[in-house]
Amino acid sequence: MSLIDKAKEAVVAHIATACIGAVLLVIGYVAKEIFLAIAPKLSSLLPPLVVLPMLGLSILANILLLWAVWLQNRRWLQYQRQRMRIAFGIQWDEDFQAHCPACGSVLSNYGERISGGHWGWLCLKSKASPSS
Ligand SMILES: [Zn+2]
Repeated sequence: MSLIDKAKEAVVAHIATACIGAVLLVIGYVAKEIFLAIAPKLSSLLPPLVVLPMLGLSILANILLLWAVWLQNRRWLQYQRQRMRIAFGIQWDEDFQAHCPACGSVLSNYGERISGGHWGWLCLKSKASPSS
């Protein structure tokens, strides 16, 4: 593998992180400019005793929002990890382990089945034969 191919792989692997970082940088810059533009007017309109609780509530609301987004993404990632893919009549997980479609347990017994005389999976837990 050449150096250019390695560089391409590194760029592709980190492109999402770089895009998120660039977007967060732009959002931070815009938020700073907006804050600098409205800070004098805000401090003249509102007394300091109101601004600090508002700032605290805003930070708390943002933390709760980030927590909710994290919870939602965690459930989605768990769903994606646990999702099985079907190939050759067998369910496969992300580690390419075969699972029994009847009971969901990992199939580890691949060999010649005694009853049929041909090769296939046999689930020892549910005695099902998912493929033949
Ligand atoms: Zn089974």
